[in-house]
Amino acid sequence: MKVRKTRYLGRTCRRTVLLTGAAGFVGSHLTDRLLQDGYRVIGVDNLLTGRRENLAHLEGNPDFRLLEQDASEPVTVEEPLDWVLHFASPASPPKYLRWPLETLQVNAAGTYHLLELARRHGAGFFLASTSEVYGDPLAHPQAEGYWGNVNPIGPRSVYDEAKRYAEALTMAYRRRHALSVRIIRIFNTYGPRMDPDDGRVVTNFVHQALSGKPLTVYGEGRQTRSLQYIDDLIEGICRYLRVDDPGPLNLGNPQECTVLELAKLILALTGSRSAIVHAPLPENDPQRRRPDIGRARTLLGWQPAVGVRQGLALTIEDALVRQRETLVPVRKAAQG
Ligand code: UDP
Repeated sequence: MKVRKTRYLGRTCRRTVLLTGAAGFVGSHLTDRLLQDGYRVIGVDNLLTGRRENLAHLEGNPDFRLLEQDASEPVTVEEPLDWVLHFASPASPPKYLRWPLETLQVNAAGTYHLLELARRHGAGFFLASTSEVYGDPLAHPQAEGYWGNVNPIGPRSVYDEAKRYAEALTMAYRRRHALSVRIIRIFNTYGPRMDPDDGRVVTNFVHQALSGKPLTVYGEGRQTRSLQYIDDLIEGICRYLRVDDPGPLNLGNPQECTVLELAKLILALTGSRSAIVHAPLPENDPQRRRPDIGRARTLLGWQPAVGVRQGLALTIEDALVRQRETLVPVRKAAQG
């Protein structure tokens, strides 16, 4: 899809978005897609959990630049903006537990500054929120109307409550300033380019299986998750940019499985002979999670197209390629 062009000071300009978290897993895939669709992209990332290598292929692209700075602090841009997309935040449990204050800050102060930026530029504001706002849900599957079951002071609260605050602030800006906003709640998403050290279930299991290490299933592995392939999420986001509705909107794949089933599937797909070991269940780990995507289906005509087997196969293939890329220089160095 090619984007519309806007008139600015008598000139016709390409549409421009500012995207925080551009060097992250979701952010870098979204950057690629927006560039493909004809946008100019200004990325903002302090590389706390994002990785420069996710954007390496864009070096020299005149439609992209990266501002290496903390999205919690005000960002200044001179050119007109059509969208401010806020995707910066540590997002895997081990990462937000390691960076609790930074997580709170980027979703609270960061969201505030970026809403102000959108307001000053007359741009739309798009918030990447999370299924974590539902906490350990008592309703199943989770529809947008469910208010959640969140421990406000537990270890995960730094992420859950920060995203809930970010949603509240976004809606307040819509009410007070008539700002055009979009809120998505992203359910567990996986795919190529995930940081092998992010500590999430898919990355851990894939890397453990490929390196012959035991797969660490937390608890008995009876808790469920519903896994969405990255391309489906990106497609949903791009469709939502074209629809005038504040949300919140669930984007996820309703195909649900237990963590133990997932471990077995990854063993089968990799052909690995790794063992499965059990480790303690983290505090407040949600028991089950599955999105109700009825709203997204109606509003966007969207639904996931990639099943978990296919998506995991693509993810494993990518992990293998990256593993080889890192091994080759080590071997060469060892031989030389
Ligand atoms: N999990 C696991 N082994 C791991 C990593 C995660 O059993 O090595 C479990 C975790 O306890 C949770 C689920 O997998 O129940 C998904 O965890 P993840 O960290 O991917 O994200 P969450 O959905 O909890 O935000």
